[in-house]
Amino acid sequence: MTDPRQRVKEFLTWQNATSPFFLPKELLVRKSTPTVAPTAQFTPPMQGGDPEAAMALLARDTAGCMKCRLSETRTKLVFGVGDVRARLLFIGEGPGEDEDLQGIPFIGRAGQLLTKIIENGLKIPRDSVYIANIVKCRPPKNRAPFKDEADACIGYLKNQIAIVRPEAIVLLGKTALEHLLGHDKMTIRDAREKNFEFEGIRVFVTYHPSALLRSPDLKRPTWDDMKKVMAYLGLPVEG
Ligand code: SF4
Repeated sequence: MTDPRQRVKEFLTWQNATSPFFLPKELLVRKSTPTVAPTAQFTPPMQGGDPEAAMALLARDTAGCMKCRLSETRTKLVFGVGDVRARLLFIGEGPGEDEDLQGIPFIGRAGQLLTKIIENGLKIPRDSVYIANIVKCRPPKNRAPFKDEADACIGYLKNQIAIVRPEAIVLLGKTALEHLLGHDKMTIRDAREKNFEFEGIRVFVTYHPSALLRSPDLKRPTWDDMKKVMAYLGLPVEG
């Protein structure tokens, strides 16, 4: 059988003839069953190693959550979206107005930019990665979530990570860095240079897409970070 990476090279030679061009799906999803075991921190609701069933169960358990004050002002809870066998998982801060209305993460202006980075830059269909946030309900006026809100919600995200069991996680911005890894004093500029792990999974840190909308000069370093992620996953990227 042809080596998948050889197939990628062949695809890349005629990518201009295809629109849109994406990497082959088999390079983007993990093949093995997740091996994560329950820990003191969290207990993934594994369903006999079936991540689709486990995620559906977790989504059902999360629906209607009233564990923090954000439940009082949300329109829709924004659980997360993507392939539950993805090799790559993105984590942002929390839903904004568009996400709150539709119940889907990263669909507003910042989300559209993230989608462009994933699809136009990395050549990966957005639905082949997994995308979630630190909190699942919109903080009023798009403020950052308070610590007690993030603490109330983070267990859901940790369970999602345990179910997807990606090979790499990308933290988008300071809120994700603070609440997943506990680094509340570190700047994104410093965090980008460090090698983090969460439960044995390599974690990369880069700027939140909303920061790129405010400061376009951050696009270049963000793209450099994404190239590091792709290199770590052994996937080709151009530019
Ligand atoms: S933000 Fe999280 S913990 Fe708070 S109500 Fe929403 S789902 Fe529950």
